[in-house]
Amino acid sequence: MAQGSDDIQALIALMARLPGLGPRSARRIVLQLVRKRSQHMTQLAQLLDRVAINSRECTICGNITDRDECAICTDPARATGEICVVQDVADLWALERGQAFKGRYHVLGGTLSALDEIGPDELGIPALIARIHGENISEVILALNATVDGQTTAHYIADALVDSDISVTGLAQGVPIGGELDYLDDGTISAALRARRRL
Ligand code: ZN
Repeated sequence: MAQGSDDIQALIALMARLPGLGPRSARRIVLQLVRKRSQHMTQLAQLLDRVAINSRECTICGNITDRDECAICTDPARATGEICVVQDVADLWALERGQAFKGRYHVLGGTLSALDEIGPDELGIPALIARIHGENISEVILALNATVDGQTTAHYIADALVDSDISVTGLAQGVPIGGELDYLDDGTISAALRARRRL
């Protein structure tokens, strides 16, 4: 096993555990990084260090940011009265790539799941409802995955807002069943958002 040093071996093993990579991809990436270390490696190491130290969740919406409150929550132009509820930060990023939504977000961090004993409190749904009432929100868009748990969560939130004047909508049909937003192309996400329907 004379493949580089022990540290290089450890780096390959770590890289191979990342999503989308396996041992072969990890070896190729590490070899390329070592060969081009003056170009990429130092910068990569510095960025990893900074991101590791500074990354945190936005205290308002749950987006990943390097401040207490993210750039979307602090942008006055995004106070449109619309709030889009997503399951994961990856979904928020997918919607931002589509550039079709101009309001603000709320990241649940999961879905209700009887099997995994994840209830409304674990997902912070009471805090979400309080946020919706506190921010003068006129429309809540539930951009949750088309899985059973995703739809159960959507209906739970819609029920909690049923006695208010707030319009509750969901993404249009066309989002594949069980599909996650992050896997859709930007045009499909934008189209699903534009053609949203009342729940
Ligand atoms: Zn935020």
